[in-house]
Amino acid sequence: MNKTNLTRRQFLTAASVGTIAAAASRAIPLHAEAGKEAGKLAILGGQPVRTKSWPSWPVWDRSAEESVLSILRSGRWFRGSGNTVSQFEEKYAALLGAKRCVCTVNGTNALLTALYILDIGVGDEVIVSPYTFIATYNVVINSCALPVFADTDPETFQINPDKIEERINENTRAILPVHILGLPANMDKINAIAKKHNLKVIEDACQAWLAEWRGKKCGTVGDLGCFSFQESKHLPCGEGGALVGNDDEIMDRAFSYHNCGRPYRSVKSSNGYPIVGTNRRMTEYQAAILLSQIKRLEADTAMRVEQANYLTSRIKDIPGIVPHKLYEGTTRAVYHLYPFRYKKEHFNNVPRSKFLSALSAEGVPCSGGYGPQYKDDMIEAMLNSKNFKRSFSEARLRRYREELHYPDNDQLCQEAVWLSQNMLLTSKQDMDDIANAILKVYENRDKLA
Ligand SMILES: *Cc1c(COP(=O)(O)O)cnc(C)c1O
Repeated sequence: MNKTNLTRRQFLTAASVGTIAAAASRAIPLHAEAGKEAGKLAILGGQPVRTKSWPSWPVWDRSAEESVLSILRSGRWFRGSGNTVSQFEEKYAALLGAKRCVCTVNGTNALLTALYILDIGVGDEVIVSPYTFIATYNVVINSCALPVFADTDPETFQINPDKIEERINENTRAILPVHILGLPANMDKINAIAKKHNLKVIEDACQAWLAEWRGKKCGTVGDLGCFSFQESKHLPCGEGGALVGNDDEIMDRAFSYHNCGRPYRSVKSSNGYPIVGTNRRMTEYQAAILLSQIKRLEADTAMRVEQANYLTSRIKDIPGIVPHKLYEGTTRAVYHLYPFRYKKEHFNNVPRSKFLSALSAEGVPCSGGYGPQYKDDMIEAMLNSKNFKRSFSEARLRRYREELHYPDNDQLCQEAVWLSQNMLLTSKQDMDDIANAILKVYENRDKLA
């Protein structure tokens, strides 16, 4: 087979990204024939690199259907009359190497429970990453505590551990690190800072099922860990969440609190309800779906890791494409999203939005991820709320407003590109499609300007 008989895909797969990148960086035009083969961008009317669809999500099987139906038919729908939720709690705790697990209606409520149980509330401050799903901000605000942002480390997409200490004051009670995108935050530094300043560490592991820091599962490295089982997550049941921890007394309180404040083990009562509670109980159906989903979690995770590593090896030398970095203590990153940064300087200044559209048109759906949410209206709504005006001094709230500048986060929000987790449940050929599509956009960057 001579070169002209190669299909475009074969050509691109055969061509080493490194070679093309090196050629490009020396500003040597690509081989004329290769240029023709590379073809017109799909967004400009050419053939897309890929027309095949990507795997859908969530995925389920007959065994899940049967167990949900059998719960329906049993009439035992709530955890007090069945034992499906308890079964799942035991299984999930064992899987993570945590002593205890309490399931909740969703991840947001797992986080709210963690904050409440650790007595974090009115007048307190909690250090969080600005680069996260909005729930991480909301749970702090709903607890009447101030979410104080420490700027993002754009290389890892995580909270910058070296920016935390300067945000601590006498009202700081906790650090709420997020293992965002399924990549672990720097837990060595975060735990050391927490220890030094006597702060609690609540891990938002809502995107990090089976991720690991130095061999320990994320969610078990701090004081408490919180997980989400929402439909888009790797361990999904529609809506669902869990809190994990190793301290029996705290976990007893968490259970009692999520169950209307009823007595539970060490939470004893001599007269009625011992503590103030709420109802955040998971239903039996949710747990039945989770017991089925948990069977595929390890194999799916291994597959995502394998494809993510291969994809990184394929795109790392493309000029203007900066792969994410992992901290040295990371023993497993689980890729709820696969991120890289787009440097438009290397793409003839084509704005990221155009790059995203061009890449999507090639059959590779992608997004720009989180915006600088700390600039959203909700922050002013918080600062002007009755709760916050009563809980914090005017001077504190004024200083808070003045400090709302996170340049590294802002830059990341402009440069990030995300691919979704289901795209990694595929094969090396599918990763080649992604790499080849990025490369094609790179080669045609001048036509996008
Ligand atoms: C999904 C998610 C949550 C909230 O979980 P829900 O189950 O949707 O309430 C919190 N934090 C992060 C980082 C998440 O991704």
